[in-house]
Amino acid sequence: MAEARIIDGKAVALQLRKKIAAAVADLKRDHGLTPGLAVVLVGDDPASAVYVRTKTKRVEAAGMASSDHRLPASTSQDELLALIASLNANPDVHGILVQLPLPGHIDERPILEAIDPAKDVDGFHPVNAGRLMTGADGLFPCTPVGCVMLAKSAMGELSGAHAVIIGRSNIVGKPLAQLLLRENCTVTQCHSRTRDLPSIARQADLLVAAIGRPEIVKADWIKPGACVIDVGINRVEDSEGNSVLVGDVDFAAAREIAGSITPVPGGVGPMTIACVLRNTVQAACAMAGVDAPDLSI
Ligand code: NDP
Repeated sequence: MAEARIIDGKAVALQLRKKIAAAVADLKRDHGLTPGLAVVLVGDDPASAVYVRTKTKRVEAAGMASSDHRLPASTSQDELLALIASLNANPDVHGILVQLPLPGHIDERPILEAIDPAKDVDGFHPVNAGRLMTGADGLFPCTPVGCVMLAKSAMGELSGAHAVIIGRSNIVGKPLAQLLLRENCTVTQCHSRTRDLPSIARQADLLVAAIGRPEIVKADWIKPGACVIDVGINRVEDSEGNSVLVGDVDFAAAREIAGSITPVPGGVGPMTIACVLRNTVQAACAMAGVDAPDLSI
């Protein structure tokens, strides 16, 4: 069998960001509307700092307004809630993103629930989770939205496909199941208590791994020709002791069996930030009462 087609997340994300930049230019010209994203970073987790820097760069490159709010690790819950209240009230801010994880003394749930659902560009607020579940419009989590776009870019129509998702977190696995149901997939959701995971995974036309365990998904978990989307990001040491990133899928072996597969890095990762931008444009349009542009891929 031929080697799997590599799904180039960087290229798809670039295509999406170009579409977003064109839509932002139109919104500025036709409606005087500049979508604005506020990013809140508490503490000095180095991975989060890199992620926030990339986000800011991408927001500005798309012609959108960006504001960064960097707070010390000692910030109290009340201080963070006060900042969110001021961002909720600011008409120039259309999207609010609180970078996770938060320092241990801050309770994440009330912070995420304090964000105005209309500005919740991460799509983590229960109102948006409920809208996703009930088939309404809303702001939906960026990584799962990116996964669906990549799956469509490889498979075309998803309707009727059997999708097996390994992982049931609130930020990836669960919302992805809802998005794939909307695409008329038959969805099987697996997790750490699933019995005989390999045989269930092998039934998938579309297999998504969102686990956080390096290369746990082996070639014999994959149906020949299936589309494999690898969400996992795991830092491991290679045979020469260098620190490298790998996914949840044993990429080299899986590539011999799958029909298409995302690499790590360069697969799902770049889509996440592009979808934050997309959600910010959609939030700005909804708030301004302007028709949202078509930002599908
Ligand atoms: P969580 O740790 O919140 O969830 C992991 C899920 O995997 C859980 O549902 C867990 O099951 C399941 N799981 C764990 N071990 C096994 C196992 N041995 N067999 C089957 N299922 C298992 O992780 P996230 O969903 O937040 O993230 C998953 C991965 O995706 C991580 O590597 C993360 O870094 C990456 N990620 C990448 C993003 C990107 O932009 N590319 C964005 C977000 C995450 P149970 O519920 O039973 O515990």
